[in-house]
This record gives sequence, C-alpha cells and structure tokens, in this order.
Amino acid sequence: MNDYIKISGLEVYANHGVFPEENKLGQKFVISIKMCLDLSKASENDDLKQSVDYGEICGRVTQFTQNNTFKLIETLAYGITENLLDNYRLLTSVETTVEKPWAPVGLPLDTVSVTVKRRWHTAYVAVGSNMGDKEKYINTAIQSIDHAKGCHVKSISNLIVTEPYGVTDQPDFLNGALSVITYLEPHELLNLLQKLEQEALRVRERHWGPRTLDLDILLFDDKIISDNDLCVPHIDMQNREFVLKPLSEIAPYALHPIFRKTVLQMYSELKGATQ
Ligand code: AMP
Repeated sequence: MNDYIKISGLEVYANHGVFPEENKLGQKFVISIKMCLDLSKASENDDLKQSVDYGEICGRVTQFTQNNTFKLIETLAYGITENLLDNYRLLTSVETTVEKPWAPVGLPLDTVSVTVKRRWHTAYVAVGSNMGDKEKYINTAIQSIDHAKGCHVKSISNLIVTEPYGVTDQPDFLNGALSVITYLEPHELLNLLQKLEQEALRVRERHWGPRTLDLDILLFDDKIISDNDLCVPHIDMQNREFVLKPLSEIAPYALHPIFRKTVLQMYSELKGATQ
C-alpha cells in the first residue's frame, strides 16, 4: 500500500516521564503519525467516509496522550499506534514518532524521539487437543485469541478427529486451523499462544505425548523465521495431514514461502505420497 496520511508535529502538553517531577509538572510532547490506507476510493468518490478524519484522529491522540501517564515515550508511542489500529479499520499500518524536546537530560539538545510501527498481518495457526473436553479447550482458545490485544480470528476450519502422530499409543486428536489477522509480531503471537496453552493447564509428560491444547504458528505472512524459539513456516507442516487438511479448507492458496507451493498443492502431494 503506497497511500498514506501524515500528521506532523502535533503538540500535546502531558505528564509522561520517569521522574516524579515530570508526572507532576508536565511538559511538551510532539507527535507525528504516518497512517497507510487505500485512498483511491475516497478520492474517486470524494468521500470522507472512505478515508479517515485526520482532525478526529488529532483529537483522539491528544486525549490518549493527556489521559494516560506513562514512564516511557516508548509506551506512549505503542499506545497511540495500537489505539488507532484498533479504532480505524481502514488503516493497514501506523507509524508513530513521539518527540520529547524538553527531556530532562541536562545537556543541550534539539529533541529526543522514539518511532514505532505496527501493521496488520495474516497468520495461520494450528489448534489441537487430545485430553479431556477437547472441543471445549479448542473453542476457549479460539475465543481467547479473538479477544486478545491486536488479534481477530478471521476464519476457522472444521475440527477433524485424527490419529496421533509420532507417539501413537495415546488418545485421538481433535485438530483444526485458524486464520488470524494481527498486529502482533511473530514472537508476540507465540507468547500469546504459549500463555493460552499454559492456561489450558497443558500437561506434557513426554515429547509428542498427550496435551490439553497445542497451538502452533503455521504461516505468518510470507515471513521466514528460524531461531531458538520459533520456526516459521512450521518446520513439519508439509508432512502433517492433520495440519494441511483443515488449512486447505480456509487457505487453499496460501503460499509456503520456502517451497513456493500452495497449501492445496502440499496437501495433494502428501495424500498422493501416503496412498
Ligand atoms: P510443540 O508444543 O511440540 O508444538 O513445541 C513447542 C515448542 O516449539 C516451543 O518451545 C516453541 O518455542 C517452539 N516452536 C518453534 N516453532 C514454533 C511454531 N511455528 N509455533 C509454535 N511453537 C514453535
């Protein structure tokens, strides 16, 4: 998306700072915001409803900045960014710079500033359970993801009963897949999923053994990530029918960024190989 609206140098008197004097006396903050959205329809119809009202946004940002007291301008910048993405569905990304020209540094300077950016991503998540009330664990997790900060569950596959993979002497699984629109970054989404697994009292005595809830990130936009905590695309998704079958229901044409194959292609190839 190449179009954007930019607000530059909005001045707000507010009380953010690490020192108690800053919280009491207040000082000037200067805020600039770059908001990406498709402006072609608004322009075609000359219609404000198909854009966002920058006057209203200046008011909202001023109120948010004055109604909160944070220690860090980092927190303020993320707060503004998330507030705008939460409230204006046309925005695809928001970049916010907060300047603090009167920062009590004790040395001559023009200003100090932080800049943060968030944008909406599409993630696909695998859900599974093979202990207790499996459907309830899965549905609770889906609801919690949908209510979590910066996440909307966009589509949910049917849940399928599958035989255990790896360790086979354990109860059958219930498996499914979700698409999630999120402005969280991949590791933030992983943290959320791991928190939900813990809340479901996930008990794991052995690797690949029974679990109340298993949530894995399958794809995250076209990102490729490989570190100690996270591997995206999921390292083994191409070999798992219980992943590809539900995923092909909701995202048949999503592309695996390493194999350059669609989910449907990977699913057909796996079925061909296992027949
Ligand atoms: P499991 O519960 O068997 O799926 O494994 C969980 C572990 O895999 C955690 O330590 C995660 O940090 C790690 N992991 C690596 N890649 C992923 C991914 N794409 N989704 C979820 N967990 C992942």
